[in-house]
Amino acid sequence: MSASSSIPVAARRRRRVLGWFGAEGEALPASAPAAGTIAQQRATVLRRLFDDIGTLIFSHALTPSPCAYSVLHAYVSGEDPGTGEAVAEQLRSGQGLSDTSIARIAARNDEAQAGALSRIADALEARIGDCLAAVGESRGSAETFGNALHVEAGRLSSDPQATIKRIIGLTEAAVDAARLVEGQLHHAREEADALRAELHRARRAAEHDHLTGLPNRRSFEQRLRDSGDDAATVVALIDIDDFKQVNDRFGHPAGDRVLKFVAAFVRAGLPRDVLVARYGGEEFALLFKGMSLEQAVAALDEVRERLSQRSLVNQDSGAPIGQITFSAGVASAAREDALTAADLALYAAKNRGKNQVARADP
Ligand code: GH3
Ligand code: MG
Ligand code: MG
Repeated sequence: MSASSSIPVAARRRRRVLGWFGAEGEALPASAPAAGTIAQQRATVLRRLFDDIGTLIFSHALTPSPCAYSVLHAYVSGEDPGTGEAVAEQLRSGQGLSDTSIARIAARNDEAQAGALSRIADALEARIGDCLAAVGESRGSAETFGNALHVEAGRLSSDPQATIKRIIGLTEAAVDAARLVEGQLHHAREEADALRAELHRARRAAEHDHLTGLPNRRSFEQRLRDSGDDAATVVALIDIDDFKQVNDRFGHPAGDRVLKFVAAFVRAGLPRDVLVARYGGEEFALLFKGMSLEQAVAALDEVRERLSQRSLVNQDSGAPIGQITFSAGVASAAREDALTAADLALYAAKNRGKNQVARADP
């Protein structure tokens, strides 16, 4: 799997650009027959993405730095909802974007994770220091005890009774000192266990999406790289159909609940060893290990069919949300361009009318 195959591609960008700007009139409706070749459409979409980012950079008088590009790319493409939301909030605040606010937004993810990990490392370092001090103390008192015993042993023949009394006293003091150290080590051990649990939580947070609880894009891409070019591994990209309408009609919180529902539905509908990750926005990426393309398509299509038969209800009002469907593109993970191929297949599924699973062209 090469790094280039995880580069976001046009089909996804086009839909996301629509999502963020709602510029439906200017773009090709997803269900309309494709005008021009897919390659031409890709070029148009990439051009628009680039233009949208450029417009933001220049209208806010930002320095066109890699950092600004990356933050605005996250916002325009919708690929990193957290960063996108931070940009949206800055825009809503009416203060506009500046180089400083862009730098702050760029730093926020790294900061949160690095902060948690560095606090754990500091605490761990302090505990190790305590343990070393306790062990040092224990060695010191054992040595003192040994020396004192040696001195008393020399006096044993001259005054056995008094010497034995002193030896008992010394032994009791040594036992007390050892108990103290044992207590300190026990305490350090408990703290180390708590730190280990905290480290586990921090690592989990870095690898999971907070809304759906699914593994995030970062861990998906890592797993995909680890899978090598195994012929019996398949990737799929899922994109919820007309999700923007759910937000528009029922509000963002209801949209969030629908996202969580679909995430849980897909997760529960597939075997445990299929990796189901949130890839970004309303998109999920899946990795089927040990499955042929046909098996993966069949498994996913079965989930798609069952979801399309459900009718959802808005928890807040009891009002019907109705049918929620998704489209998916599936490709063999053995190919270099696996994700691109899956994304193009997804795009084809959308173009053919959505609510379907499409296989990538060989
Ligand atoms: P299509 O069938 O072509 O995929 O249409 P669509 O409306 O699903 O696609 P589009 O890309 O136009 O819209 C996706 C929307 O998903 C836009 C974005 O605001 C919304 N979205 C992305 N992430 C989240 C999220 O975390 N919560 C909510 N509520 N909405 C989200
Ligand atoms: Mg999308
Ligand atoms: Mg969608």
